[in-house]
Amino acid sequence: MMDRMESRFSAYTDKPKDDGIGKSEYDTITVKNVIISGSMVEEIVKNNNLQNYKITQFNKAYYNDLVESFDEITTWSKKDRALLSSEQFFSLEVEKHQVSKRKDTIKVLFKRKLDNKFIETVLMRFEDGRNTVCVSCMVGCPVNCTFCATGKLGFNGNLNAKEIVDQIMYFARYLKKENAKITNVVYMGMGEPMLNLENVQKSIEVLTDENKFGLGGRRITVSTSGYVAQFNKLVSDGFRGRVAISLHAPNQALREQLMPVAKAYSLDQVMEALDNYVTLTNKRVSYEYILIDGVNDSEQNALELSDLLKNRLAHVNLIPYNPIDGVMYKRSTQENIQLFSKILKQKGINYSLRVTMGDDINAACGQLAGLNLAPKT
Ligand code: SAH
Ligand code: SF4
Repeated sequence: MMDRMESRFSAYTDKPKDDGIGKSEYDTITVKNVIISGSMVEEIVKNNNLQNYKITQFNKAYYNDLVESFDEITTWSKKDRALLSSEQFFSLEVEKHQVSKRKDTIKVLFKRKLDNKFIETVLMRFEDGRNTVCVSCMVGCPVNCTFCATGKLGFNGNLNAKEIVDQIMYFARYLKKENAKITNVVYMGMGEPMLNLENVQKSIEVLTDENKFGLGGRRITVSTSGYVAQFNKLVSDGFRGRVAISLHAPNQALREQLMPVAKAYSLDQVMEALDNYVTLTNKRVSYEYILIDGVNDSEQNALELSDLLKNRLAHVNLIPYNPIDGVMYKRSTQENIQLFSKILKQKGINYSLRVTMGDDINAACGQLAGLNLAPKT
């Protein structure tokens, strides 16, 4: 989601409760990567008979003061800091840091230290002061939606929780130099969050822990293409952030044409899961709707979408399609975009029309593909 929204979401304040998520595959492979779960520091403190307040000191320096290396944690003695020396401070390497012409969008190409594969992360700086990081949770994506550049890469691995959090830490440290802070995190970069749920949940836990990154739950948005079972688990585990669904079609037949996941989970099942989330949380769901010329942008489509969402706590984000290399779809015409919006308005459906950000650096919605540098695997 690299686009500017014209309207703001309503605010809410719940925090996800501790969901007691187990270990991920990566914890066992790279034990040194678990710093963010707190267990690494806790273990070091425990194993070396350090006093417990060291954990608080560590978290403050790391997440609050945003130190650039363990050596900068001067509340710990040099001797204590030496205990951290075998741990990894940052799990990613910066390959490319690109700023858009308008300077409101920054896209970073990271190389994973784990396997040298590439991911992309975007920072959007809004005039109202919001600084939103759009994080990736996978290298590529297995879902293969017909319109998405990330999907064209195929699946090249799940990120672990530290790698997800490190994308945010990078921009938090970057913004600190300008006396600015990250205000929002959206899981709308590369990958499908529901298919890497455990690591996504762990990263949310760290981001919302007031002793760690300390972001309010309402400032986190998770987007899914519609994996119902995993979404239900996220909600029943206590997630109380915001939810976005990549809808893109108002009926089952069209949705199946655009998104393979629709064959696994029907539109009815998706709507039922979202209704359940709304009942539990009383929070509005964002419905992402790409406007593709001649595919899903007719008057009939707008009427169907209005029917689907009437009487629901819903907000539609209309996203003019961002062109992708090798894909024949075209962006809807201005005329059709206006007509589509008008119908939603007439029918009393909440919506906003996104203004694309960062398309000059291929940072707009659906364009993340680690262009040029990503190795073909
Ligand atoms: N996998 C999750 C998270 C990615 S969010 C999901 O699909 O929800 C990225 C958003 O950009 C999704 O809503 C996606 O459908 C949308 N998108 C993908 N390709 C796009 C394109 N070419 N133009 C505009 N939006 C696109
Ligand atoms: Fe994956 Fe989302 Fe792109 Fe579909 S839209 S291929 S789920 S990243």
